[in-house]
Amino acid sequence: MAGSKQPAPPAVSTGFPAAEAADITQLVEDLDGMLSRLRLGAIREQLDGLLEEAARRQLNLREALAWLCAAEVASKEQRRLSMAMTIAHFPCVRTLEGFEFEAQPSIDPGKIRDLATCRWVANGDNVVLLGPPGVGKTHLEVALGREAVARGYTVQFTTAMELLGALVKGQQQGTLEVRLAQYAKPKLLIIDELGYLPLEPAAGHLFFQLISRRYEQGSVLISSNRPVQEWDEVFGDQVVAAAILDRLLHHSHVLTIRGDSYRLREKRRSGLFRPQAGGSSSAGGGGVPPPPPAKEA
Ligand code: ADP
Ligand code: MG
Repeated sequence: MAGSKQPAPPAVSTGFPAAEAADITQLVEDLDGMLSRLRLGAIREQLDGLLEEAARRQLNLREALAWLCAAEVASKEQRRLSMAMTIAHFPCVRTLEGFEFEAQPSIDPGKIRDLATCRWVANGDNVVLLGPPGVGKTHLEVALGREAVARGYTVQFTTAMELLGALVKGQQQGTLEVRLAQYAKPKLLIIDELGYLPLEPAAGHLFFQLISRRYEQGSVLISSNRPVQEWDEVFGDQVVAAAILDRLLHHSHVLTIRGDSYRLREKRRSGLFRPQAGGSSSAGGGGVPPPPPAKEA
């Protein structure tokens, strides 16, 4: 109200020493302690440099505070990213920038760019990557997985063998529930290399349990060298395979990659490898079966 005197705000003690009494050594020590306590590690570690830079840029107090906070936020984001990448257990570093689309004309770059937005992860959709060895399935899985991590989703990468080994072990040891919960948890579960080795009949049932648990909850990105029509052979059970595919393919993007192995292409280019008739040579496949004969377009 006009004329009425506002009561003075209560004095809040900041504990800040009067300038004349300030002991600079003590001040530096106190500030260091407070920054530690507030877990502002980046500001604490780079304080001298940041303050010098702020002074050089003649920032006012608000600008300087924002600049310090930005340094802290950037460092925390970097830490989160590197922690999430470690937790994801990617077998290698592969990026979409490093993927040569010209080398794999059966892949639509627009489709991959769309998947890179991770809307499918937000929606809990699945992605199925099919194709012979060496055509870039693992590369794309890792690259898309990294995009998902960068967007803040929890991601876990595993191979079909590793996953099923863990589930079978869990069943034998009475800890299946724990294992299923562990694989159901990440927002995106990447399952690489389904179909390279035949699975035990019990493994198909376990796989089905995991897929049903994740159904419409979290995304699965799965790769296989076998077309889905052959998955009943992979799982050794037609009914189980149909049930798995039913859930996996509902809300899914299926990408079939055709063409030559990129690995062999590189070997051929360098003259180290000459394709044999029928394409039955394997080069550096790490125990992976040789690629099937390249189909003529
Ligand atoms: P797959 O999983 O289909 O067997 P990979 O993703 O492991 O094949 O690819 C084999 C190697 O070739 C990897 O080092 C991968 O980074 C590389 N590679 C495959 N396709 C491409 C591509 N189109 N551009 C760049 N590198 C590729
Ligand atoms: Mg692979």
